[in-house]
Amino acid sequence: MTQNIDGLHWRAGSREIIELHGNINRKRCFDCGEYARSWDEDGEIPPPCALCGGMLRPDVIWMGEGLPQHLLRLAYHAAEQAHVFFSIGASADVAPAAALPLIAKRAGAHVIAISDEEHTQTLLADIWLRGRVNDILPALTEQIMQRGSSIL
Ligand SMILES: [Zn+2]
Repeated sequence: MTQNIDGLHWRAGSREIIELHGNINRKRCFDCGEYARSWDEDGEIPPPCALCGGMLRPDVIWMGEGLPQHLLRLAYHAAEQAHVFFSIGASADVAPAAALPLIAKRAGAHVIAISDEEHTQTLLADIWLRGRVNDILPALTEQIMQRGSSIL
């Protein structure tokens, strides 16, 4: 689950991603919600939807919009199924994403927060790895690769 919209997780090779705030690289129709395969830069601005003629927009959540309910359901389900839940680099102060670590913990997961600042997520976590994500994640990955999954 991510709140990033830049497709970073895709570029890193992850494939089972719940992009709660969408992806700036996708386009969809304001009216019918269909995804568009292309964004024609030469014609009408914004380009019309090929299906209904509505306006296309970037597939991201804008200020004041709610998160897509189907993605929230997927995220809640994933949190409930987790054995280990990493809260990485997010203070998660904004609902509804802020509830995901709590949902995981209530369902029995071990919650691990990685952050250089104390906040709600670090307080509820079973383990707080304090520091910069850019320092901790590579070190954690190296430990896992050396020792295998038995360290978790
Ligand atoms: Zn449409």
